[in-house]
Amino acid sequence: MSESPRLSVGGEWFATHRPASGAVLESVVIGAGQAGLSAAYELKRRGKDFAVFDSNEGAGGAWQHRWDSLTMDDVHGVADLPGSQAPAVSSERSNQIIPAYFAEYEERYQLPVFRPVRVLSVESAEKNLLVLTSAGDVLTQTLVNATGTWDCPFIPRYPGA
Ligand SMILES: Cc1cc2nc3c(=O)[nH]c(=O)nc-3n(C[C@H](O)[C@H](O)[C@H](O)COP(=O)(O)OP(=O)(O)OC[C@H]3O[C@@H](n4cnc5c(N)ncnc54)[C@H](O)[C@@H]3O)c2cc1C
Repeated sequence: MSESPRLSVGGEWFATHRPASGAVLESVVIGAGQAGLSAAYELKRRGKDFAVFDSNEGAGGAWQHRWDSLTMDDVHGVADLPGSQAPAVSSERSNQIIPAYFAEYEERYQLPVFRPVRVLSVESAEKNLLVLTSAGDVLTQTLVNATGTWDCPFIPRYPGA
């Protein structure tokens, strides 16, 4: 396996992939939760040149933000990531077990996850897409939006609430 590309954000990787260099990725995945890691696994399996940008400080997607009393025997089941089995039901905290599972998965499959990198916008750039992030900009042929719902919740308003 090659060295993990989880380099210091804003470092050499973004410099060598800046649009002016002519570099164009085959895909960018936004978000490294269950959806983003599943997409990344399939892109890796197909030998694609891609990157995953995740705005969280650590692995785990939304799961790292669950409350402490939500244990693995309270959750409504966690889907297996491709090529891997989700942790068993236990009395352990889900906000520790699932992030550890995702972190191990990223390492095992050497997925090119960069964090914390927030995607700020995506624009058309002739045949490609220009992805502007907090760490630098890249061009890509395709994009997978796997940003989940946690960062932008819909909070209904009720009179008198
Ligand atoms: C209270 C609650 C309880 C739940 N309980 C269960 C359960 O028991 N079992 C279950 O299967 N599911 C449960 N879910 C649903 C669970 O959240 C989803 O199954 C799972 O987290 C969805 O994964 P995801 O990859 O779509 O999104 P997420 O896990 O939310 O991951 C999205 C990632 O994208 C990143 N991101 C967002 N915007 C950007 C951006 N602009 N740039 C870069 N990165 C970005 C985020 O930082 C995050 O890491 C629950 C949800 C909630 C709210």
